[in-house]
Amino acid sequence: MSGSSNKKSGKSSRKVRVPFRRNRAKPPRVSDWTRRLRESEDSDLDDRRSESVVAKGDLSRKRTITIYEDGAASADLHAGMVIAMRGLYAEVDDGERIWTVTIRRVLRTRLIKERHPVIVGDRVHFRVEAGPEGVKRQGVIESVEPRKGQLRRKSGRRIHTIVANVDQVIIVGSAAEPSPKPHLIDRYIVAAHAGDITPVICMNKIDLDTDGRVVPLLELYAGLGYTTLRTSVITGDNIHELREALRDKSSVIVGQSGVGKSSLLNAVQPGLKLRVGNVIEQTQKGRHTTTTASLIRLLTGGYVVDTPGIRAFDSSLIPPHELEAHFVEIAPRVAQCKFPDCTHTHEIQCAIKAAVERGDIHIQRYETYLQMFEESSAGSHG
Ligand code: GDP
Ligand code: ZN
Repeated sequence: MSGSSNKKSGKSSRKVRVPFRRNRAKPPRVSDWTRRLRESEDSDLDDRRSESVVAKGDLSRKRTITIYEDGAASADLHAGMVIAMRGLYAEVDDGERIWTVTIRRVLRTRLIKERHPVIVGDRVHFRVEAGPEGVKRQGVIESVEPRKGQLRRKSGRRIHTIVANVDQVIIVGSAAEPSPKPHLIDRYIVAAHAGDITPVICMNKIDLDTDGRVVPLLELYAGLGYTTLRTSVITGDNIHELREALRDKSSVIVGQSGVGKSSLLNAVQPGLKLRVGNVIEQTQKGRHTTTTASLIRLLTGGYVVDTPGIRAFDSSLIPPHELEAHFVEIAPRVAQCKFPDCTHTHEIQCAIKAAVERGDIHIQRYETYLQMFEESSAGSHG
């Protein structure tokens, strides 16, 4: 997960040291450079800018270039992860430092249809050239790796991917104040599955759980194969386990307001301040929030997604007929329904309803399925 520097893009290659061309070795004036940076904020960028930085000391009179087997040479490529977008710039963490990089024009033009050729969470390869101490070095993104684990948001009828390569979603609930909302947990799980993200269920405030009411709930989810945690910020119970669960992964934290998301993160890493997403709004449509997410690096390794938009994690994007695929105990049984297009709502000889009656599928989960099916059918997917 965590990026490391100087990784090449997979092709077989060798590195050679070559002298800087004279015009490159000439130091630019810093004031000039920063002004151009400001000026180009909204305008089309000159990709060559990244090359007009000065070399450092004698050693860097030569620059490392990578020769690929196909004969093409390119400047040294770094691998890293986009942690924030600022206009046409991306901030990229290579595991050691954060670079401000531009997107190569070719890449921009080619991917312009996709609206967001580079988004937060993308693993990218970028070319950099050395600058002197005190001068911010610049880079250009050369390629973007395929995305897996998408956090999507709907605004109007458009669906945007706002964060890529999210490994897991920590679904936080609380034992009391507010009381557990099993259907909400189910919805988050469905949204996680749909985004190809692993759900982890974390029940917080177990210090308030005097009658052990979260235990059967967590058993249900553990029985379905999900990782579960019982935490308390007050007693410190399982905070260490949560920290370990976050290590070296890219995680998004979701859950109803007041369950303790901010408190948990602060317990995991004091001083960590996130704008955490609260309740998902299933039926509210067309809210236009111009929110951008970013990634915050954890000291123990890994990232947490900082997302100010409550609609960042939304299961209402899923068409009704696709819902069954995101319930792990429903999906393997649908082939046994009498009708191949069974929706498991009203049909006769439905293997899902039969399993609910036998107790093989928990009624709570089936109810969530029915609710979501109804909402999704009534919505734009209907
Ligand atoms: P968020 O809205 O999910 O970020 O929740 P907060 O972190 O703001 O916490 C909401 C309230 O719950 C605050 O008053 C916290 O002090 C309290 N709280 C958080 N974690 C715990 C816990 O483990 N036990 C108890 N008893 N209270 C907690
Ligand atoms: Zn059925």
